[in-house]
Amino acid sequence: MYEKEKIEIVEYGKKLITDRLTTGTSGNISIYDPEKKLMLISPSGIGYFDTKPEDIVVMDLDGNVVEGDKKPSSEHGLHAAMYKSKPKARATVHTHSMYCTVLSVLGEPIRAAHYVVADAGVTCVPCAKYETYGTMELANAAVKAMGESDAVLLANHGMVAVGKSLKSAYGLAAGMEYCAEVYYRALCTNKTPNILSDDEMRKVIEKFKGYGQVKTKA
Ligand SMILES: [Zn+2]
Repeated sequence: MYEKEKIEIVEYGKKLITDRLTTGTSGNISIYDPEKKLMLISPSGIGYFDTKPEDIVVMDLDGNVVEGDKKPSSEHGLHAAMYKSKPKARATVHTHSMYCTVLSVLGEPIRAAHYVVADAGVTCVPCAKYETYGTMELANAAVKAMGESDAVLLANHGMVAVGKSLKSAYGLAAGMEYCAEVYYRALCTNKTPNILSDDEMRKVIEKFKGYGQVKTKA
């Protein structure tokens, strides 16, 4: 089942490491099939370069394993919550990328210091309140903070991004890390960063809808 999707998850897992969006076995990736209401998710505790397509776990959104003999990622509930609350989401990428995590430790959202924040479909990417990893409380806090956003910071933990494909969710995760780094570095100077207005950001959100070859918003 889902041979192509499993290979895609393995390949993007390796990219998470080579693009320095996560380290070790932290973070996880999933793809959702809305017809069968099943998600494919990376396994728990296996290095991204050691993960094989057959290690990818197929689950329903209630946490039952449908196929695979590996333990699913401990954040499978967080991924399932994304698909339950965002009907257009087809993939989810969760990372512990450095600058998103730094802002999350400060309880600080990713403010629009850079216009690319609009790629999440909002004027400012929120930060969900802290909850223990791998719990339904964390999944619920993420959904609640997210609202219309396609990305959210998890306090003292990391970041989650969704998209209409794995390529788009991954691109958003990388874009949010860039925006978080720019904002953090600007905060480290003795000047106050200029934040783009909500009006300007709404303009950019509209512009992004027609940008490139395909629409990226989930
Ligand atoms: Zn995590």
